[in-house]
Amino acid sequence: AKQQGRNGYVIFDDTLRKVAESRMQMLKGIRTALNHSQFEMHYQPIVSLHDNHIVKAEALIRWRHPEQGMVSPAEFIPLAEETQLIHNIGDFAFTQSLDTLTQLQHLGHDTQISINVSPVQFAAKNCTLASWHDKLTTLNIAAKQVVLEVTEGMMLHNDSRTKQRVERLKQHGFQFALDDFGTGYSSLAYLQQLDCHFVKIDKRFVDSIATNEDDLTLCETIILMAHRLGLRVIAEGVETATQHQLLKQAGCDFGQGYYYSKPLPQNEFLALMTEKSHI
Ligand code: C2E
Ligand code: CA
Ligand code: CA
Ligand code: CA
Repeated sequence: AKQQGRNGYVIFDDTLRKVAESRMQMLKGIRTALNHSQFEMHYQPIVSLHDNHIVKAEALIRWRHPEQGMVSPAEFIPLAEETQLIHNIGDFAFTQSLDTLTQLQHLGHDTQISINVSPVQFAAKNCTLASWHDKLTTLNIAAKQVVLEVTEGMMLHNDSRTKQRVERLKQHGFQFALDDFGTGYSSLAYLQQLDCHFVKIDKRFVDSIATNEDDLTLCETIILMAHRLGLRVIAEGVETATQHQLLKQAGCDFGQGYYYSKPLPQNEFLALMTEKSHI
C-alpha cells in the first residue's frame, strides 16, 4: 500500500521495498558466494573455422547457489557492477583463468583465454586491473594468452581513465576483443579507433544468417571491413551446421557456440583439450 508523504509525494511503496530487499539479498548472496567458493568459471571453446581446432576459450562465470541452483550471470553481474563486488568477481575470473592457462601450458597448448571485463572495472577510481600483469609474470604466463572482452559502450564514454588503462594493458601485451558487435552504436570507424585484436559478431546476427539475407550481408560486410582494419572476427552463438558453413564461406576466422560446445567446467574443458584439441 502506498503512503503519502507530507507534500503528497509517494515516499513508500511495497513494490519498491520488495525490489530494494531482493537487491540487498542478492548483494549479500554475492558476498557469501565469494567467501564460500560458490562461483566457478566455465570455458567455452572457440574454434578456428579453417580447421576446427580449439584456439581459444571464453571464461564465463557460474554461480552454484546452494538452494537456487545455477544463477545466471545476467542476473548478478549488473548488480555487482553497482558495487565494489564487480572487482572481486573480475579478479576471481582472472585468477581462475590463469590456473586454466597454467594447466593448458602443461598440456603443451598455447590456447588463449578470453575474460569478460566490465566497463565499471575500467572506469573505477580504484581498480585491480593494474595488478593483473604482475600476477601473469609471477606465474610465467604471457600476456598475449589473455584476451580481455570489452563492450563498445565502454569506450563511448570517452573516459580518460578507461583509455589510459586500456593503453597500459595493451602495452603489457594483453589482447582485446570487442564483444557484442552490432548491438550498440558501433560504427566501423569506432572499431578502428578502439584498435582491438578481435571483434565478436553478436549472436543475434548469427541467429538469422541462414534465414535473413540482410543479416548475412551484414555479417559479410563486418568480416570484410574488420579484415581491412587488421582485426580478426569471432562469430558467437553458432548453433547449426548451416550457420557454421555460411560463416566459413564469408571468411569469418573463429566460431563459438553450442554447435561446437557449450561452456564446460574446467576439468571437462581440460579433458577435451587432453583428448583432442579440436571439435
Ligand atoms: P557474453 O559475454 O555475450 O557471453 C556469451 C553468452 O552466450 C554466454 O552466456 C554463453 O553461455 C552464451 N552462449 C554461447 N554460445 C551460445 C549458443 O550457441 N546459444 C545460446 N543460446 N547461448 C550461447 P552466459 O554465460 O549466461 O553469460 C551471459 C553474460 O554475462 C555474458 O554475455 C557476459 O556479458 C556476462 N558474463 C559472464 N561471465 C562474466 C564474467 O566473468 N565477468 C563479467 N563481467 N561478465 C560476465
Ligand atoms: Ca563475452
Ligand atoms: Ca558476447
Ligand atoms: Ca551477448
